[in-house]
Amino acid sequence: MKIGFIGLGIMGRPMALNLIKAGHQLGVYSRRKESCQAIIDAGAQYFATPKDLAPHVEVIITMLPAPADVEDVLLGKNGVINTVKPGTIVIDMSTISVVATERFAERLAKKEVAMLDAPVSGGEQGAIDGTLTIMVGGDAQVLEKVQPIFDVLGGRTTHIGKLGAGQTAKACNQIIIAETIVAVSEALSLAKASGVDPEKVREALMGGYASSRVLEVHGERMLKDTYAPGFKAALHRKDMHLAVDQAQHVGINIPAATYAMQCLDRLVLKGHGQLDSSAIHLLVED
Ligand code: NAD
Repeated sequence: MKIGFIGLGIMGRPMALNLIKAGHQLGVYSRRKESCQAIIDAGAQYFATPKDLAPHVEVIITMLPAPADVEDVLLGKNGVINTVKPGTIVIDMSTISVVATERFAERLAKKEVAMLDAPVSGGEQGAIDGTLTIMVGGDAQVLEKVQPIFDVLGGRTTHIGKLGAGQTAKACNQIIIAETIVAVSEALSLAKASGVDPEKVREALMGGYASSRVLEVHGERMLKDTYAPGFKAALHRKDMHLAVDQAQHVGINIPAATYAMQCLDRLVLKGHGQLDSSAIHLLVED
């Protein structure tokens, strides 16, 4: 397929490279051309704006930080919407809000462009290995057309439901991860403060019901005190605000998620937004 890929950061770069390796033709846009030189060298064509890229492709994938970035790329002055052909499919794989997703899809529909929300879980390693978990919202027939793309990027693609349902599933994912990071951090801190080796505690717990990927991966980062991202605290903070906002929107309280969000707020305020979100442990240790 002819695919436009916009957002070539930690996640987007390896995803784009995997699509090229699988034989798809890629067009890319990035604000700084030199930041996507590796992808151009691998065979992608560079375009100076999303508007220049849009008419040349059948599918446009966005993998951008936040709703405002997706809005800029899709609907802005130099955005996709100005030149996109009817029948094009836009797949937003960023983590953004359901409300923004619905708004973007409505505008694109006026140009006869279908949109899917398809946020992912699995981190940088999942993007490199092509084993991401992909949570899709939108029309099943549209999904069927782009399934070969998801087969390259992901290990498991689940059609969750209507447009926006993928973003809801992702919010649920982020709640579980953030709250578990806080739980793992508090548990390891309790062990240490009690004069018990936290490494031994983690090792023991990995064999029982408290075992999880967060205890394994984030727990190890906490024990080693190394917080290179991974998943940046600033992005996890953004996701927790999306989740808590959505809970307010649908009229429920999620107090533990709100606490985890406040931990991420404090971490970012302390200037640690570019560290991995397991750096919440720095606050708990304090
Ligand atoms: P990143 O900050 O590494 O990359 C984002 C890229 O988008 C950067 O290259 C940036 O220059 C580019 N960009 C930003 N605004 C732009 C604009 N207006 N026009 C063009 N390019 C623009 O972020 P990431 O870690 O790759 O995350 C991307 C998305 O995926 C986020 O929504 C994040 O929440 C989500 N996500 C990340 C992970 C992870 O582990 N890193 C895992 C799952 C989901």
